[in-house]
Amino acid sequence: MHMNFNMNIPGFKEVLIEKIEEIGDRTVLYVSLPKKAHHCPSCGALTSKVHDYRMQKIKHLKWFERLTTLFYKRRRYVCACGKRFSEHAPFVDKYQRFSKEWNQVAQVRSVKAKTFKEAGEVLGSSSSTIIRRFQRIAKNEMVEGVRLPKAIAIDEYKGDTDAGKFQLIIANAETREPLEILPNRRKETIQNYLRQYGEDVELVVMDMNPSFKAAVKKALGRPVIVADRFHYCRYIYWALDEVRRKVQKEWHAYDRKKCKRMRHVLYKRKAKLTERERWYLDRYLGMSEELRQAYELKEAYCAWFDWAKTAEDVGDVKEQLEEFYQTVENAQLPAFLKAIKTFKNWQVEILNSFIFPYSNGFLEGINNKTKVMKRNAYGYRRFDHFRAKILLTIKYKEIGVHLG
Ligand SMILES: [Zn+2]
Repeated sequence: MHMNFNMNIPGFKEVLIEKIEEIGDRTVLYVSLPKKAHHCPSCGALTSKVHDYRMQKIKHLKWFERLTTLFYKRRRYVCACGKRFSEHAPFVDKYQRFSKEWNQVAQVRSVKAKTFKEAGEVLGSSSSTIIRRFQRIAKNEMVEGVRLPKAIAIDEYKGDTDAGKFQLIIANAETREPLEILPNRRKETIQNYLRQYGEDVELVVMDMNPSFKAAVKKALGRPVIVADRFHYCRYIYWALDEVRRKVQKEWHAYDRKKCKRMRHVLYKRKAKLTERERWYLDRYLGMSEELRQAYELKEAYCAWFDWAKTAEDVGDVKEQLEEFYQTVENAQLPAFLKAIKTFKNWQVEILNSFIFPYSNGFLEGINNKTKVMKRNAYGYRRFDHFRAKILLTIKYKEIGVHLG
């Protein structure tokens, strides 16, 4: 049967379908291109004299919901000069077993899919084919290092790769684009990278990790360091939680469990509590003077923080923070004394967070993504794969994957 209709698929405009078969779970299309004059690659003359045909078997994407295989009858022309050459086919390169479109989709899928296996199933190939695609992209598209911008954010996370348990991610603090992932969070690793690529860096946002601070200072001289707001606020909540756990221990099992379950009423801003939550708050604060004190300290801290966010003068912010220290010192709760000790060590960086509106919180999102990756993905234990996966996923974020 000679059907000779055009395939309505992008990249296949000229293609003639000669026969369609259903073999197993695939649609098999026998295709060819119309005969037309070609320029001889050797002498440039036009010829349309056919020499012979070769059959090329090509795996392609889905067509009407089924994966397709193309049997492409590739024509070869012969020129008056004696040169024989293959016709130009827009959908596949010579000797290739996959269509150009398949290759494009496989490239994006190999990066974006949760696992190589999943990408292989969707594309009708083995996971090892997908892994090879991924490795090729990783090799071609990943550069050794990037010159860092003026403002960067850094954060660690647990990638659990063959290069170490924790990795360090560096992002553009302004655009939030992740720029680099370092194999580990060691001081020397960070220092070396910043020395090599951090010439332009003037500001670094980080959480309160003393070895990050030391590395940044050593490599960059005197950049502005900004402590991430979320990270330092956590110290206050940790202190409150430490007190809660301590006082709870002396309570009956019922209240202990209930208080643990209702602990969010302690963290929430008092003004935002519902009536029911308020009832629980009053109940537990009524059971322990120490917990009440801790709670008041947290509320005092929140009042300072909320006000500081809109304060005009950072000198005032500092003054009020020191007043908060005084309140903590008067209360003499060890958990809070410990927290403000950290605050004092990072005071400059904390105050900077009210001058420079940067955070590293957005890196948390990437952190969560890698958690999913770790659970699902085979092959990302290798640090180079891991790094490529994360950086390329972000690069490919805007690209959709259409399977035809
Ligand atoms: Zn020729």
